[in-house]
Amino acid sequence: MTDLITRVDAHAGRITLNRPDALNALTYQMCLDIEAALDGFEADPAITLILIDAAGDKAFCAGGDIAEMYRTAKAGNFEYGRQFWTDEYRLNAKLATSPKPIVSFLQGFTMGGGVGVGCHGSHRIVGESSKIAMPECGIGLVPDVGGSLILANAPGRVGEYLGTTTARMTAADAIWVGFADTFIPEDQWDAVKTALCDTGDVGLIAGFAADPGPAPLAAKLDDINRHFAGVTLPDILRSLSFEDTDFTRDALRRLRGPSPLAMAAAVELIHRNRGQTDIAKALDMEYRYTFRSASDGEFIEGIRALIIDKDKSPKWHHDLHDNMAMDAYKMLRPLGKDALDLSQPNAATGDGTMKIGFCGLGNMGAPMAANLAAAGHQVTGFDPATPCPDGVTAAKSAADAATGADVVITMLPNGDIARAVAADVLAAMPPGSVLLDCSTIDVESARAIAAMARAKSIGALDAPVSGGVGGAAGGTLTFMVGGDGAAFETAKPLFDIMGQKAVHCGDAGNGQAAKICNNMILGATMIATCEAFALADKLGLDRQSMFDVVSTSSGYSWTMNAYCPAPGVGPTSPADNDYQPGFAADLMLKDLRLSQQAAKAVNADTPMGAAAQDLYAQFVEQEDGAGKDFSAMLPRFEKRDRT
Ligand code: NAD
Repeated sequence: MTDLITRVDAHAGRITLNRPDALNALTYQMCLDIEAALDGFEADPAITLILIDAAGDKAFCAGGDIAEMYRTAKAGNFEYGRQFWTDEYRLNAKLATSPKPIVSFLQGFTMGGGVGVGCHGSHRIVGESSKIAMPECGIGLVPDVGGSLILANAPGRVGEYLGTTTARMTAADAIWVGFADTFIPEDQWDAVKTALCDTGDVGLIAGFAADPGPAPLAAKLDDINRHFAGVTLPDILRSLSFEDTDFTRDALRRLRGPSPLAMAAAVELIHRNRGQTDIAKALDMEYRYTFRSASDGEFIEGIRALIIDKDKSPKWHHDLHDNMAMDAYKMLRPLGKDALDLSQPNAATGDGTMKIGFCGLGNMGAPMAANLAAAGHQVTGFDPATPCPDGVTAAKSAADAATGADVVITMLPNGDIARAVAADVLAAMPPGSVLLDCSTIDVESARAIAAMARAKSIGALDAPVSGGVGGAAGGTLTFMVGGDGAAFETAKPLFDIMGQKAVHCGDAGNGQAAKICNNMILGATMIATCEAFALADKLGLDRQSMFDVVSTSSGYSWTMNAYCPAPGVGPTSPADNDYQPGFAADLMLKDLRLSQQAAKAVNADTPMGAAAQDLYAQFVEQEDGAGKDFSAMLPRFEKRDRT
């Protein structure tokens, strides 16, 4: 019996998973064969739709067949698994982007690898027996096969809930969450399949659709949103442990099983993918984790406990309540030359390699340039004061670095320097290339640089970043981008390497506008958080209690929950490292000044921003704030009284 049956049936190309005794678990060979069939059906003009189903009534596909992955990884061969995932993810991307309609019939279990085959097509049909889940955290992996993208775009915080608890969805749930489209009673599936093959018309599916009834998950939405909205896994656990209800007890019970590290990374992954539509990007991020899952993670232990020894007692690296944010970030760091390559296995590599000039190799620029070089781009750097990082070739001047470049990136201290360097590099750049300024500078300078570039038929983007030195090193920066759309498209692959998100905010200067508005909020919020801690001290309220309450109440903020200014409280932050920056108070002062300069130019009333600017100016220029993290406002307030 073959594990996969493929054939042409009138207007349909058909793929049937045929391992019913193994719940149709997906072997490596099945992945490759499905892809080959798909390629053939897409190329055949006589085929108008592709139909995917599975033999037996217990499962469409209960996951990937991971026994061989376990065996090879246990013997120290991590390449087999990495190649399996690469080929499987390429299949997932093809299913999600196929030019032809793909109809899948998902009876019984559809889990993990099964979701990757059955839940990316255009018409996903569920019935009474359907049970869909992303249970990867249970074996020390994160939700993958593109499932993190579906979870990220689920209603409210349902993605975080399903990704961490590994809970199963009913048919109605799956439609509500976004894993399926249509409920059709299973006794009609044969008739639907015959009609689809005979006519090649997916429009007829609507005629068979029935009401799946209410989605049990939807009834829990308020609870899910309330408890799963935290920035990190510990935020979620804290929120759940503050309330004693059926929902919180059940959720906490479920969270005790899976790998804490995988759940922490899953939360981060879902946050990073929220609002994305590009499956390639989600797969790239998932692969960062799966690539490392056997060598640095807990995949081997997860499979041992659940599938090989079946003792269901995995020895995870972390306790559930550990703060493992840094370890989770490490698992999601970019892979450089090992990054997921979705191009055909034998396609020539090297396509898309760019020649990049990089000016300004300081705290931020050096790691950004190093990440681009590690990803295979040809990077030439210039900085009058600092040496080039590994992989970057040194140039004698900014103009030298820019000569013949496809893209020139600048990461400089201020607007005057950015204007001067722009004049130098634009003279050397070819028409059609792109100048990408990632420095934080004034809106006016950004617009002046864009005008200079336009006059030479060179694209220009102002793309300041959020994420600091850690984000630059880890390739997790957020870019706020102003400038024309074509230049944005050219720079997109570079944003994907240097960061996790790039938002195109409109015309030239709008990236800087977004940045200074964001940082005006950040500065004012940090001050409010610090003065509230200092007040709480004087009122006799201990800091941990203050954190426990505020981090789950309406005073919640990024400065409290993710970057708590009180040492020993909340996640690890610069406060725990004697206020070494992080994000320096000097830089916050710079950004607040830019915000007030911009506010003045357009006559906007920004009293909170102005007060924050004055306080940071006093702290940095008259007190001892220079060189400290911007959260060192807390010890400052602590020492002061009202006079
Ligand atoms: P930095 O001072 O460490 O680096 C700036 C670099 O520019 C220096 O190495 C300097 O020698 C170089 N430089 C100056 N003139 C030059 C010229 N003419 N040609 C080439 N190089 C030149 O500063 P940084 O922390 O890397 O910050 C860079 C930019 O990023 C700033 O605009 C800053 O506001 C912004 N930023 C910084 C952070 C952070 O946490 N450090 C976070 C977000 C944004």
